[in-house]
Amino acid sequence: MKLTILGCFSATPRKDTNPTSQVLEINNHLFMIDCGEGSQVELRRNKIKFSRIKHIFISHLHGDHFFGLVGLISTFRLLTRETELHIHCPKGLKEVITLQMKLADSWTNYPLYFHELTSNTSELIFEDDKVAVWTIPLDHRIYTNGFLFKEKEGERHLHLPSVLEANIDVAYYNKLKQGHDVLNNDGILIDHKKVTLPPNPPKSYAFCSDTAYKEDIVSIIKNVDVLYHESTFLDKHAHLAPKTKHSTAKEAALIAKKANVKTLILGHYSTRYEDLNAFKLEAQTIFKPVKLAKDGLHFNFD
Ligand SMILES: [Zn+2]
Repeated sequence: MKLTILGCFSATPRKDTNPTSQVLEINNHLFMIDCGEGSQVELRRNKIKFSRIKHIFISHLHGDHFFGLVGLISTFRLLTRETELHIHCPKGLKEVITLQMKLADSWTNYPLYFHELTSNTSELIFEDDKVAVWTIPLDHRIYTNGFLFKEKEGERHLHLPSVLEANIDVAYYNKLKQGHDVLNNDGILIDHKKVTLPPNPPKSYAFCSDTAYKEDIVSIIKNVDVLYHESTFLDKHAHLAPKTKHSTAKEAALIAKKANVKTLILGHYSTRYEDLNAFKLEAQTIFKPVKLAKDGLHFNFD
């Protein structure tokens, strides 16, 4: 599982900082999460292949989370994309994008699907045999969802010396990896657990931005490997958090602690702060495994 931060600041784009966008590589999927202005430049800078993005998840309709989308959709067309693109987003985004394209008499030459969200309870919005994605309803000034990405358990691994020792035909290797017992060349039933190792533990990632402190997300994100939680403010501006429906670094840490996550990544910093390390220090008074998001940073969680 690999996370690339394309942008992690709130409000306006600046010379060296971008609004929210990230790309999550999980089990051969490349999911884009939010698409603030400048996202496609950052995709190029990070050498991410545009054609690998088939699903884009938009948290909410504030500009710093989706103003890059119409540009990206348009670029896909110029790149003669043919594969489907799925946008998972709050209701209303389809209207915005189609109006922009209609007025420009510019249509996609690839299938573009909008999956509009309206539910206030967590729902499964994507699933295949490798990954499932749920919404995480958040508390912001407008309808907002975070997203929970969960790998499914993969195949077991062959322990080759044991397999050879057990005299099993190669044709049965896949069955073993799938957890079936098989007959060996002498007609003896071999317990798959004796010749294979357990699958890698499935990884999970929760993206929670933008939101006020919302304790009831804890049950949804319990025990995830990585939590990205917004921390717009430091404690000295804590009074602004409830008003603007954002969180402080300490609140993000409290959620991480209650949810027993392995790693917390902070982001969505207000552009008023020069020293981002202060976010980490404040969060670490409550929860130690904290990392700071930064534009262009890659996190590997394998
Ligand atoms: Zn925002």
